[in-house]
Amino acid sequence: MNAETQQRIVDAVDSGFEAQLATTRDFVAIPSTRGAEGPCQDMIGDLLRQRGYEVDDWHINVDDLKDLRGFGPIEHDFSKARSVVGTYRPQTNGGKSLILQGHCDVVPAGPLELWDTPPFSPVIKDGKMFGRGACDMKSGTIGALYALDAIKAAGLRPTARIHFQSVIEEESTGVGALSTLQRGYRADACFIPEPTGGKMVRSQVGVIWFRLRVKGHPTHVAFAGSGANAIMAAYHLIQALQKLEIEWNERAKADRHFKTLNHPINFNPGIIKGGDWASSVPAWCDVDCRIAVLPGWSIADHQKEIMACVAAAARNHRFLANNPPEIEWSGFLSEGYELTDAAAPEAAFGKAFDVVYGGAVEDLVFTALTDTRFYGLNHGIPSLCFGASGGEMHGFNEFVDLESLKKTTKAMALFIADWCGVEKA
Ligand SMILES: [Zn+2]
Repeated sequence: MNAETQQRIVDAVDSGFEAQLATTRDFVAIPSTRGAEGPCQDMIGDLLRQRGYEVDDWHINVDDLKDLRGFGPIEHDFSKARSVVGTYRPQTNGGKSLILQGHCDVVPAGPLELWDTPPFSPVIKDGKMFGRGACDMKSGTIGALYALDAIKAAGLRPTARIHFQSVIEEESTGVGALSTLQRGYRADACFIPEPTGGKMVRSQVGVIWFRLRVKGHPTHVAFAGSGANAIMAAYHLIQALQKLEIEWNERAKADRHFKTLNHPINFNPGIIKGGDWASSVPAWCDVDCRIAVLPGWSIADHQKEIMACVAAAARNHRFLANNPPEIEWSGFLSEGYELTDAAAPEAAFGKAFDVVYGGAVEDLVFTALTDTRFYGLNHGIPSLCFGASGGEMHGFNEFVDLESLKKTTKAMALFIADWCGVEKA
């Protein structure tokens, strides 16, 4: 690709940017929390059909996925769960094929009064777009679509097969991405525009979700001594798991990438529910937890360590010793992923990055996970993760920086053109 062609593509991103923002705003306005992603998938399906892609829109069948590597259990009604893939087929086969993927599920907005503007009424202010999912990662998904549009607007068309994939469940199990692989979609590389602050994810953690189910013995609080408080017992277990977190962070010092970080393994009791009445000793407490693991750490082994930690803590507890808590695996059972054997797509992306940003792209050692793992680990498809800057993801007043979004869209467009190849349309 010569400099003049590159410039045409970059200019096309600039001219399309207003439309890109309008589409992003519409996409962010859909409250696509877990189980409610349908309207987002409808919108993506429409956008792909309008552009002439061949659209595959299907219901995900958990039975097809449950034995695949990296599957995480689903507990909610999954009858409306869908994946949407738009496929572009080239007239001339020249370059290498590509999967572009985004997730349309977003995490809950949390207490609305914490937001300056409503989370699902996106607002553009001071060069930023605010809204739940504006950063993670709806702006990235729409950016990828407009990167493809820019190639077309520059009078070009890719010379390799491209699958544009919109998935769900990225924030809870990853089975959306897994479903596209089960369906048979493959390519020479995968690219996921998560908001990485303009860096390339080199290594990322895996995640285990589990629920502590703690029992107590209910009595009137007037005779609390004769009862056993399940909420207090749950705190006892949480404290034991905090010690496990310290141990795992010690172990992380042996990892060639994560040793550079101070505290890569984060344990989070994220949801707590328990008890029925302020004047009754609670008979039950459920705590939903998340903990990270590093690339190369076996999920099964670390599940065993969690079980052993909880069992040991229960043995040291007056009531739990005879009434052991249960552990339920409630979502992610995901390995970490380190990007290796990706010289070819990294070189193509490096060239694109250099044109837009000048210089070489920096690596990111990431203490959260992305869907890239399924492509890399399950099928040896090198999977790049790179995207815009923003902030307050999973918090309130989430935003994406629009200048960075424009730049990442340009880098994506140039990467696609280089990797897939282009010819005059
Ligand atoms: Zn994300």
